[in-house]
Amino acid sequence: MSLDASRIEPRPERLPAHEARQRLEHARNTRITQLRALDESGQADDQLMSAQKAAIERVLKEIDEAFARVEDGTYGACLGCGKPVPGERLEILPYTRYCVACQRRAAA
Ligand SMILES: [Zn+2]
Repeated sequence: MSLDASRIEPRPERLPAHEARQRLEHARNTRITQLRALDESGQADDQLMSAQKAAIERVLKEIDEAFARVEDGTYGACLGCGKPVPGERLEILPYTRYCVACQRRAAA
């Protein structure tokens, strides 16, 4: 435990880079484990399985892109409107590119 109690700064908007990386790392490991499980199931040729695999690979690519945004300092900003993506959304989807409003617009 390395809690630095002397610096409690409420920062709801910007996630520190190391924390963003940690979350992305975790998200990536989860997906890699899922991919491995799919491969080991020996049903990778199955249509449903390969669709699932493609979906996971797509997320892995998004995670990679998110890592790149951490590096260039744009992580956490919505690619649609440029506003910060709310922290609670990043907690669920650390690799997301859009805020809720822009995501909805993109999906519509
Ligand atoms: Zn937005």
